[in-house]
Amino acid sequence: MEAINKHGEDDLNEVVDLIKRKIPEDQKRKFEGYAAEILTSLGMDLNTPSTSDTPRRFIQALIDATEGYDGDPKLLKTFHTECRGEPDCRLSQVIEGPIHFFSLCEHHVFPFFGDAYVGYIANENIIGISKLTRLVRLFAQRFAVQERIGQQVADTLEAILLPHGVAVYLEAHHLCVEMRGVRELAPFTRTTVWRGYYASDASLRYEFFTSCGLKR
Ligand SMILES: [Zn+2]
Repeated sequence: MEAINKHGEDDLNEVVDLIKRKIPEDQKRKFEGYAAEILTSLGMDLNTPSTSDTPRRFIQALIDATEGYDGDPKLLKTFHTECRGEPDCRLSQVIEGPIHFFSLCEHHVFPFFGDAYVGYIANENIIGISKLTRLVRLFAQRFAVQERIGQQVADTLEAILLPHGVAVYLEAHHLCVEMRGVRELAPFTRTTVWRGYYASDASLRYEFFTSCGLKR
């Protein structure tokens, strides 16, 4: 099995599940009409200078907030390290975080937002640190559930880098919980994904959390 960067961009695009979205202008106008109808019946007065353009802004904001479906051309740039798997290399973690992210919950289309921490133990390939941020945002800027973002980040890192291990930790506030439902300021929702060495070695998980400044 080879790392995906040796194959190319098409393979990566398949791993990260892109949808090439095309929303024609006339369709957008139709959506704005639906939005106007919904907002009006909910109580918004669209006949004010402040709100007359709100249906258009609302539809455009939804499109912008979900642009993770469209992909990220700067994501695919991996390179080889000096490391060829010597024992000390295998156990050194690359950790990035906090990576701030914003997403829309697919159950309510309300935002959830927080921080992600991503770690991996390199095998032969490493990835530029900024790419970890891009990877998190690629999956967060969609309709999502928190657990799946972590799984997708881990799946993609495994496919690109064939690392010895991947760790992804996310903590987020979910507005669908806090603005409705129980209507309380809820604590963070926390999710973790452990792959490879992380799954079998508790000391690596501890080191990951400590390096992230998270005492758990
Ligand atoms: Zn929700």
